[in-house]
Amino acid sequence: MIVLGIESSCDETGIALFDTERGLLSHALHSQIAMHQEYGGVVPELASRDHVRRAIPLLTEALEKAQIAKHQIDAIAYTQGPGLAGALLVGASVACGLGMALDKPLIGIHHLEGHLLSPLLASEPPSFPFIALLVSGGHTQLMRVDAVGQYELLGETLDDAAGEAFDKSAKLLGLAYPGGPAISQLASLGDPDVHQFPRPMLHSKDLNFSFSGLKTAVLTAVRKYPNALSEQDKANVARGFVDAIIDVLVAKCQTAMKQTGLKRLVIAGGVGANRQLRASLNAAANAANPKKRFEVFYPELEFCTDNGAMIAFAGAMRLLAYPEQADKNYSFNVRPRWPLHELVQA
Ligand code: ATP
Ligand code: MG
Ligand code: FE
Repeated sequence: MIVLGIESSCDETGIALFDTERGLLSHALHSQIAMHQEYGGVVPELASRDHVRRAIPLLTEALEKAQIAKHQIDAIAYTQGPGLAGALLVGASVACGLGMALDKPLIGIHHLEGHLLSPLLASEPPSFPFIALLVSGGHTQLMRVDAVGQYELLGETLDDAAGEAFDKSAKLLGLAYPGGPAISQLASLGDPDVHQFPRPMLHSKDLNFSFSGLKTAVLTAVRKYPNALSEQDKANVARGFVDAIIDVLVAKCQTAMKQTGLKRLVIAGGVGANRQLRASLNAAANAANPKKRFEVFYPELEFCTDNGAMIAFAGAMRLLAYPEQADKNYSFNVRPRWPLHELVQA
């Protein structure tokens, strides 16, 4: 079965083809980062218009790379939510139009389920059950994943998402949007002993997070410099920030592993591309005490941030597990707000 995946929830247009027998056939992606950079964040109307421009050329590219014709597609998966309404509508309308023209069924995919299952696209995927840390631009959640569609929320951020904390702190240091990768790069040049930022909720027994205080601490630190910050000053602040946020993320993962007794941890979402996070998690996973050891799985770097491959894959997994969820009702029905727990199968 060949599934076409369409992602358009925010500022990436992604199209991919996944074959349940042969795996990922192709994927094509366009990121709008450069377009939104001058505004310091995503401008929803511009995002929608750009998805309109990109979707069909990317579809052509994906089909060519996979060397298949449109009529060979068996089903179409598209991101139904959550995300920007206008942006989601573009992907949904392309899916509906193609579905109608080709007489193929559609399946609406939850964007976070796409992220959540993306590590299963790797060459050595984890098996169920596992704990997932979802760290993206809009979400920070720890979940227990028992099967496709079987998700239990263990904890989440009470305010900012991890990616948001990266981006906002980077902005305070004058770095361009989205600042996550840039502040992480800068941190590698910083002195870890100059700034000790708070580790919010590090010792709370639950699995929740809070990052808005950390962002405020960065702001306070920046304001304390009497003159403009030198490159080294900025690197030192960046280092303080990255060390603090990574400490919290890693500690909460360790608590989740301990509380559930599971031995596999999966990282998903854009912040999963972070080098410091990967290094610290790998160290925690190889703890000296064998009882505390676990395995960590990451998506391929290119599938950490938004992409079509994860949507095609999630679509294929759902079609195998819950074939009744695909239909030929080509009405537009996007869900800009859509809690993941509403997706869980009874
Ligand atoms: P959501 O999936 O919650 O709707 P999103 O789709 O915007 O949000 P992603 O595409 O998964 O989020 O990830 C984007 C985020 O990841 C941005 O906040 C970005 O700064 C962050 N990010 C990407 N690479 C890195 C990195 N190397 N280090 C830290 N953060 C990073
Ligand atoms: Mg994005
Ligand atoms: Fe995303």
